[in-house]
Amino acid sequence: RTFDEINLGDGLKQNIRRCNYIKPTPIQRHAIPIAVAGRDLMACAQTGSGKTAAFCFPIISGVLKDPLVVARRGDGVSTAVCPLALILAPTRELSCQIYEEAKKFAYKTGAQIAVAYGGTPIYQQLRCLEKGVDILVATPGRLVDMVERARVSLGMIKYLALDEADRMLDMGFEPQIRKIVEQMDMPPPGTRQTMLFSATFPDEIQRLASDFLSDYVFLAV
Ligand code: AMP
Repeated sequence: RTFDEINLGDGLKQNIRRCNYIKPTPIQRHAIPIAVAGRDLMACAQTGSGKTAAFCFPIISGVLKDPLVVARRGDGVSTAVCPLALILAPTRELSCQIYEEAKKFAYKTGAQIAVAYGGTPIYQQLRCLEKGVDILVATPGRLVDMVERARVSLGMIKYLALDEADRMLDMGFEPQIRKIVEQMDMPPPGTRQTMLFSATFPDEIQRLASDFLSDYVFLAV
């Protein structure tokens, strides 16, 4: 089986080939078709399993089909900072890693990606966001800061991915994550697709899943 058999769109498929991804990893083989079909997902995935592509491909593919993105693709017009997709990760290192990968996957497709993490001045990151962003990769604390400063609005988020959710909870980010998701739960409800990736499944993760996901598929590969 190859990526060509999954309906991801031509631009993304070209970039997947350019990245030399030929054969999907097990998590990709199972997660991507489910996510592309629009289902919520909770997946057990370790580092090195190829989980980044497992949530990036469906998000990029979905964002590129969005009428908003199609309308402004290539026109160079900046837009308000209302991303369509949010990827939350526990650390600066992981968020930067996801950002770099996502940029390669979205190369020349018109999908705009930005990253926001703490421990560094906020102003430069805010300036990057002002150019418009479709997919935001962020650590929870820095994102809450940006939302509270009214520099980022989460009211348009259609895709949410939580990467290394267990680690985010271990680091004490649960209040921030809940605050972030509350910002998204604006009408019309039920229009958000959520993917939760975690290496372990303690009670707190199960609780997050039942609070944030609806009618989800559980994947353990
Ligand atoms: P991840 O688990 O997402 O951090 O990915 C681990 C490494 O595997 C990264 O360097 C990816 O670029 C690479 N990788 C992920 N999926 C594939 C694939 N289908 N084919 C080849 N390399 C891959």
